Amino acid sequence: MNISRKKLIAQLIAAAIVLIGIEVFFYSAYAKIPIKINNEKFLIKEKTVGDVLKTAGIKPKTGKLLSFDGEIVLDDLGEEPRIYLDGYRAKESTLVSRGARIDTVRGRNLREAIKERIQEIRPRTIIKGSGQFIVTESPGLSGERREYYLERSGLIVKSEIIKRAKPKILKRSDEDPKMMVALTFDDGPTPPFTRQVADILKRYEVPATFFVVGTQVLKYPDTVKYLKDQGFNVENHSLTHSRLDNKEQAVLDNEIQQSHDLITLNTGESPRWFRPPYGRLNGMLGETVTRKGYSIALWSVDPMDWRAESPEAIIQMMMSQVKPGAIVLLHDGGGDRQMTVAALPGIIERLKSAGYFFVTLDQLYKYRQ
Ligand SMILES: [Zn+2]
Repeated sequence: MNISRKKLIAQLIAAAIVLIGIEVFFYSAYAKIPIKINNEKFLIKEKTVGDVLKTAGIKPKTGKLLSFDGEIVLDDLGEEPRIYLDGYRAKESTLVSRGARIDTVRGRNLREAIKERIQEIRPRTIIKGSGQFIVTESPGLSGERREYYLERSGLIVKSEIIKRAKPKILKRSDEDPKMMVALTFDDGPTPPFTRQVADILKRYEVPATFFVVGTQVLKYPDTVKYLKDQGFNVENHSLTHSRLDNKEQAVLDNEIQQSHDLITLNTGESPRWFRPPYGRLNGMLGETVTRKGYSIALWSVDPMDWRAESPEAIIQMMMSQVKPGAIVLLHDGGGDRQMTVAALPGIIERLKSAGYFFVTLDQLYKYRQ
């Protein structure tokens, strides 16, 4: 009995010692201690100089880097700030004890020969899609970076982007770029055929180029807007659709520029392709058109849709002429174009099943290179 009582007391004392120990441990580990930073008093529980300063919200300042002539000033690139603990240089990792005094001194400004230069940023190359054929979708654009460097060491101390580079985009595809074909529609806009043509193309997701006549644009501005809104290219086919290979300079200027202005006004975009009426081209017309920044487009397949007797006749004539890289001439204006509208689904389906795919004139010329 006596023995077991002694044992119990001993156990209780042991437990008390353990509890006191734990308390002392937690007190010393987590209690806040008084610290003086730059002559201000703080109560902080952190253990290192770096943590103490962070908790106190004090960020020692780095000096500036200045060029010899003082023209270029780069903040935060001068001498590092100095930290003192009880009068001695300290690091951020130095441990702090109760009643310690921390002082921070701003880093000094440094003077160096700093030079400035503009460097080219080469564009990245991005590859999109999958397939065995590769075409350049976008050539990419270089960017520019301003660099500050120390003259003697060549060390780059700061750089900033002034112009972002645009990536070069390569598109992979199963479509053989040789098998492209561009559909073009002339002489519109003409209700209701132009919208019917556009809606069929849209349904098949086929791009196309519309060579519109200025006087028709004037009559049917909404149809031109519709073409643009549906994502089709609207290009210039002159103002009045008269032969231009036998006209004077002033007439040529007028025919091209007025139509150009009407298209730009209604689509918000300037046309860049010109197709001479009846494909009639001479040197003066070519010179006038290219001087205005245009490329000239004729055609290589003419299925004579404007005089065909059936949709099937148009399709057959087209298929007999088509070759990889062809430009197909069709009409959404200049008369009743029901036959063209009726032939269009067949034109698209037959070309597709023969392995062709559809591009705009821009793409046709870009992919050719
Ligand atoms: Zn025409």
